[in-house]
Amino acid sequence: MRAVARVNVAAIERNVARLREPLAPGTALCAVVKADGYGHGAVQAARAALAGGARWLAVVTAGEATALRRAGIDARLLVMGPLTDPELDEALDAGAEVVAWEPAGIERLLARGRPAAVHLKLDSGMGRLGQRDPDLARQLADRIAGAAHLRLSGLMTHFATADDRDDDFFDRQLERFATWVERVRADHPDVVVHAANSAAILRDPASHFDLVRPGVAIYGMDPFGVDPDDQRLEPALEWRSRLVSIKPCDPGDSVGYGRRFVADRATRIGNVPVGYADGVRRGLTGRGAEVLVRGRRVPFAGTVSMDSIGIDLGPLADGRSVEEIDDAVTVLGRDGEQRITAEELARLLDTINYEITCGIGPRVPRRYH
Ligand code: PLP
Repeated sequence: MRAVARVNVAAIERNVARLREPLAPGTALCAVVKADGYGHGAVQAARAALAGGARWLAVVTAGEATALRRAGIDARLLVMGPLTDPELDEALDAGAEVVAWEPAGIERLLARGRPAAVHLKLDSGMGRLGQRDPDLARQLADRIAGAAHLRLSGLMTHFATADDRDDDFFDRQLERFATWVERVRADHPDVVVHAANSAAILRDPASHFDLVRPGVAIYGMDPFGVDPDDQRLEPALEWRSRLVSIKPCDPGDSVGYGRRFVADRATRIGNVPVGYADGVRRGLTGRGAEVLVRGRRVPFAGTVSMDSIGIDLGPLADGRSVEEIDDAVTVLGRDGEQRITAEELARLLDTINYEITCGIGPRVPRRYH
């Protein structure tokens, strides 16, 4: 095996239970399992989340909804993304609820001539999907509720800056949404109101409403990008490869494309068969990235290749090599006292932890325990 991602489903279950702690008794949790469960495996993540107390699941595409149903998962399901007509039919065939935000989308839903539960989305400041005009959004609510086949099931929005605790735009979005909800709910009291992503759940109970929609935190990553321990979350995924070669390297010898690593001392170079085609981003080259071998941090050596990385194992200790061929190499996860988190890799790459697990490629088999 070149590399494997081991996913601890019990950790997902515990993370969901942890996220439910601050919720009022009437507030439910919708686990976001889009993008193959942020790289963890949608079906397994969904099952674990439901075991942890999630009542709803959310995905982005109709195909993702179908895959969950084919796996026998029958929880309430929301497809959050934009859908073509055939995709709308597929989502409805899967018994999923869908999102609308503009008159044309509602007319298209009506034209399908079949029952559909619809969540109306207000753009309270994210600037992506959603209706910007709260008055028009209110009329759309009436249109959906008044249509024979449609049911106004939910009112939703999405925050742009929930992960930045110093930014008060979050509060403005929340206020805009809450004001709109109050007006719409006066006429449509049975809707499910939802807004909070992982960061919002942990940051402000006023954002919880009837349902929360965490993604990143159910996988044990810190929505604030620092350290999962800060939020009592458990990273669910460990990504390991192995040492397939250990070679002596003399001062002046180089490793990898472009000779980006040139030894300044006698050392040993290990080769690990996991590369950028697997999701070890080439941008990590020269950024101080490390893996774990026998509980020790070992730096990358040279350019990340498509199928492998080099690592600088260091000089022989007392003339003896401690490491051996087939030793486990941890790209993400724990080994002894040491741990490499998605947050650490994200910082090196100037990106977010989400992108690290979503970027683990299909060539890396997922194993569940
Ligand atoms: N709701 C919507 C509409 C989203 O797009 C996402 C993810 O980006 C989420 C909820 C979950 O967000 P997070 O992973 O930050 O908890």
